[in-house]
Amino acid sequence: MSHRSSHYEQINNQAQETLRHILDVPDNYKILFMQGGGTGIFAAVALNLISKTGSADYVVTGSWSAKAANEAKKYGKVNLVLPPRDNYLNIPDQSTWSLDPNASYIYYCANETINGIEFPYIPEAKGIPLVADMSSNFLSKPINVSKFGVIFASAQKNIGPAGITVVIIRDDLLDQPMPSCPSILDFTIMAKFNSLYNTPPCFCAYVMGKVFKWIDKNGGVKGMEVNAVTKSSMLYSTIDDSNGFYSCPISKDVRSRMNVPFRITGQEELEQLFLEESKKAGMIQLKGHRSVGGLRASLYNAVSISDTKVLTDFMAEFRAKYHK
Ligand SMILES: *Cc1c(COP(=O)(O)O)cnc(C)c1O
Repeated sequence: MSHRSSHYEQINNQAQETLRHILDVPDNYKILFMQGGGTGIFAAVALNLISKTGSADYVVTGSWSAKAANEAKKYGKVNLVLPPRDNYLNIPDQSTWSLDPNASYIYYCANETINGIEFPYIPEAKGIPLVADMSSNFLSKPINVSKFGVIFASAQKNIGPAGITVVIIRDDLLDQPMPSCPSILDFTIMAKFNSLYNTPPCFCAYVMGKVFKWIDKNGGVKGMEVNAVTKSSMLYSTIDDSNGFYSCPISKDVRSRMNVPFRITGQEELEQLFLEESKKAGMIQLKGHRSVGGLRASLYNAVSISDTKVLTDFMAEFRAKYHK
């Protein structure tokens, strides 16, 4: 099927319309479907927005925002709003942030997938465009889009197969790319061509459109939020009520509803056994990211409450066997 055909145009438009409906995206925002993943957009954000003043503020709260800041450094001056830290366990209070009044934009990651840290609020940007990486918590709760300059999310966590990335951008932030910005990372070109500047990842857009419809039918983003709170509460209580057998190092006020890192306190050999036994019980990918170690469970929209119960039941049984 040609991506220039009216058939595909309909798939493309339908996915945009459904997303606009479920997330209540205002008319003065464009919805773009891009390639290059979240990592591609790290570069695109700077290439499209940083030239206004030449500098940008980055709120680094974990691995992904750190990567985004490093990418942006190639294209302009990056002001780190928070002092560098060895590990990320909390979000320092906004009153301590050193924001630059001359920044072109303020960048943050709404959910740090690897570290398990999620913003429970939208940062106060004082009129400066706010850019948010929502790759791992997109469409898991309602958000007030009008508070943002740019929101982006790579598909593979919550909305579809890897290979497509959603960008939602306020109209007035278009038309200011750096002259060296590659065309496929250029938000203005993508907006002008309705995301059909070159061959789009058609199948990804098709599936993503179906996921948007599924969300709409299943209580919308409000329904996803109820599920996310239920699932993550089940898991955090299993951890917190384990008499110290399991532990989660993340400050309670910023614990992620999507990615839950945890340890078997002080017993790395039991973590290995946990991975082996959980695999036998039909659960894979419970290993923590290599940069933080331990265990991690991801509770994306596709994971049901009953799936989560399988995990928490397994954890209770495992503890009953090995808690000395
Ligand atoms: C996965 C992820 C990314 C990177 O996405 P890619 O598509 O692999 O480049 C960026 N940010 C967050 C928060 C992520 O979870």
